[in-house]
Amino acid sequence: MQYKRSSALFAQAEKVIPGGVNSPVRAFGAVGGTPIFIQKAQGPYLIDEDGNQYIDYINSWGPMILGHAFQPVVDAVVEKTKLGTSFGTPTEIETKIAELAVSMVPNIDKIRFVNSGTEACMSAVRLARGFSGKDKIIKFAGCYHGHSDSFLIQAGSGAVTFGSPNSPGVTKGTAKDTLLARYNDLENVKELIQANSNEIACIILEPVAGNMGCIPPKPNFLKGLRDLCSENNILLIFDEVMTGFRLSKGGVQQLYGIQADIVCFGKVIGGGLPVGAFAAREEIMNYLAPIGPVYQAGTLSGNPLAMAAGLAMLQALNNDDEVYKRLEEKTAYLHKGISKVLNDNHVVHTINRVGSMISVHFCETEVKDFQSAAEGNNNTFKKFFHGMLENGIYIAPSAFETWFITDALTYDDLDKTIEAVGKVAKTL
Ligand code: PMP
Repeated sequence: MQYKRSSALFAQAEKVIPGGVNSPVRAFGAVGGTPIFIQKAQGPYLIDEDGNQYIDYINSWGPMILGHAFQPVVDAVVEKTKLGTSFGTPTEIETKIAELAVSMVPNIDKIRFVNSGTEACMSAVRLARGFSGKDKIIKFAGCYHGHSDSFLIQAGSGAVTFGSPNSPGVTKGTAKDTLLARYNDLENVKELIQANSNEIACIILEPVAGNMGCIPPKPNFLKGLRDLCSENNILLIFDEVMTGFRLSKGGVQQLYGIQADIVCFGKVIGGGLPVGAFAAREEIMNYLAPIGPVYQAGTLSGNPLAMAAGLAMLQALNNDDEVYKRLEEKTAYLHKGISKVLNDNHVVHTINRVGSMISVHFCETEVKDFQSAAEGNNNTFKKFFHGMLENGIYIAPSAFETWFITDALTYDDLDKTIEAVGKVAKTL
């Protein structure tokens, strides 16, 4: 493959955009090389500015669960655009998507829309603090909740890829209110609660982690957290920005039957437009302005185009009783196929998977938290990434990310992917 035009576009971008990108992981910093500029996408495929085609496993980092340029979403956005793009007033479509989201997700009565997952998590924590009257939060090393200050403490995803899990610019004052726990380690959480009794507003986590690769919660981890929260008057926040509307209609709450107090959304809920949301039972949500004291706002929140895209996406998922089953089957097929070819080629690896989230780690030991994820062989990953790209398969350019499976993938695409893994495995 040649990337002549991508390279030229990147050189041009670097002059006016820091690092040439508007979000760090796009820069290929962890794997080396020049980022590829995408021109268009359709179904499971990306086409770059040099005309190369790839089977896409990034899927815009999650939203494109039904494939790129999904027709009902495109049509909904095009139609809405003709009526004007933003009014800054209430619109009917906001209520429609809110009603649908509340009907799909368990344990929520009300939902508020924002513009990104970052905003959703930031606002959820403010709400938890306002509601509980307490300041501290517990987060888990390797979980990523967006780039607001409180979360850039041992964060996952791009923050760890680029070596700044604790970013400069976050004040000591902010950092001291974020307590850090090990994922899948209930004892550790208990110790933190004991040492900070009556000071903790909330525990926030990715209930299936996706920002240190995919890491499933151990049996009883989520239930244990739920119990600890209930016993200690702490709010449990599920950051379902990745998992919401992806792992089931009702997200991880539904998948594992665990009730969160506040749930954050992003990605799928916007159908590929900038949308985030947070939701909870009425008593908590009524703490928000204008009816409650906790302030939270947004000029473009509930934007009609974004709501049209999100509504079309949620309707498509809600109306298809088989979609999650198909996604599960496709991902399981990929899992099995990749395992086989890596084993055949004696490549040391661990594959983690929950539903349509899957990650390949180049290490032997169980990957269950940030520390074990960091033990993967990054040099092997780099080679793997570039080898896959050369074979027309686009996975995330960092080992600390999950692959997202889309329903647009055919079994032929999956076979091509497995075949590519087999070819690349010989070079590792
Ligand atoms: N939470 C989780 C679990 C995420 O994966 C992400 C983004 N990858 C965010 C929050 C932040 O979302 P956004 O990038 O839309 O701000």
